[in-house]
Amino acid sequence: MPESISAPRPSLLRRITTALTQWIDSDHCPDGAEKMRTEPDRVDLVRVMPFVVLHLACFAVIWVGWNPFAVWTAVALYFVRMFAVTGIHHRYFSHKTYSTSRAGQFFLALWAGTTVQRGSLWWAYHHRHHHQHSDDPEDAHSPHVHGFVWSHIGWITSRRNFPTDYSKIKDLAKFPELVWLNRFDLVVPILFAASIFLTGVALEAYAPSLGTNGPQLLVWGFFISTTVLFHGTACINSMAHLMGKRRFKTDDDSRNSFILTLITLGEGWHNNHHRFQSCTRNGFYWWEIDPTYYGLKMMSWTGLIWGLKPVPQSILDEGAHADHHASVAAASAERAANQAGANDYSSLRRIVPVATAMAVATATASNVVVPKKAEGPAIRKDLSEEAHGLNAAKPTPPTGHQPPSA
Ligand SMILES: [Zn+2]
Ligand SMILES: [Zn+2]
Repeated sequence: MPESISAPRPSLLRRITTALTQWIDSDHCPDGAEKMRTEPDRVDLVRVMPFVVLHLACFAVIWVGWNPFAVWTAVALYFVRMFAVTGIHHRYFSHKTYSTSRAGQFFLALWAGTTVQRGSLWWAYHHRHHHQHSDDPEDAHSPHVHGFVWSHIGWITSRRNFPTDYSKIKDLAKFPELVWLNRFDLVVPILFAASIFLTGVALEAYAPSLGTNGPQLLVWGFFISTTVLFHGTACINSMAHLMGKRRFKTDDDSRNSFILTLITLGEGWHNNHHRFQSCTRNGFYWWEIDPTYYGLKMMSWTGLIWGLKPVPQSILDEGAHADHHASVAAASAERAANQAGANDYSSLRRIVPVATAMAVATATASNVVVPKKAEGPAIRKDLSEEAHGLNAAKPTPPTGHQPPSA
């Protein structure tokens, strides 16, 4: 008999036991994390049960009801934690666009832990990987490669995407307190949920006029707010490479979208961000609102963080140049459309391309050949790789746009 070239799959019982242990210890990989990462994409039904429960628990609103205090608590916790997703998971741990002390870093990791999006190190590893492989077959959540649904929610349920590759985030993995929070990534969410529940219990006892209670505040402040927070964040993975405009000719399909910016407190300027990742703001110009940046700026006044990195003038000039050419092209296209009498259905002209792009992305999910835009020379993907100590082969930057050192 010829020897099998692929290793046999572990037994069902062993896989279930492993997944249950990983609920508590996310670094538990009996067969090695490297081996897990090379598996094909496959939803781990046992491992994702906490994620499923997070969603199903929202239906408990049928029994606990609602009141204005509970709903506003959910809204407030959405934005406070969306700020943590963008300002901490993304702009600090993933890209190091500002500095803080070791104690400050630990505080930021605790805050980011309340978002229930696994550990900051897991988050940073996957995000840096996205920038290295944007919209190519290695990208875990490219809508062009995997389709809309997988890039939105499927990839995070895949067994191969659970382990953290600490070798890709050496600058963070040298802090044992961060590794501990990343390894036991349910600790902070459980403490957070318990504190919301106890707050509701206390309010029922000491401020009954508010009309809320422990179970109701838990459902609104934790389960509903966290579920909406996840989907708001996931919109960047699934839609920020489909919806909006491309200012910079990056070698991926990242786009700038005002709607996604409102949902994510500034992350919608995704094409800007793919062009230059080492600055603290994603809205490069004053008219591109970036609430996360404004919040980080205010935090810098307290001394908790410092060293916010500006957008280099060369990048601003490049963007202004691209905007000028785009407006000239749009004006001539408008004139041509008017002459052709095709200026009706203007709203449809905006909506249809987005809907079509999402449908095509999903329908062609199995096709890993990513269509590239024929728009001239591409710009290198990850300008902050060197800042993170990543060793992937890098394409040569285009002449005239040398990235400044981060
Ligand atoms: Zn990024
Ligand atoms: Zn992206």
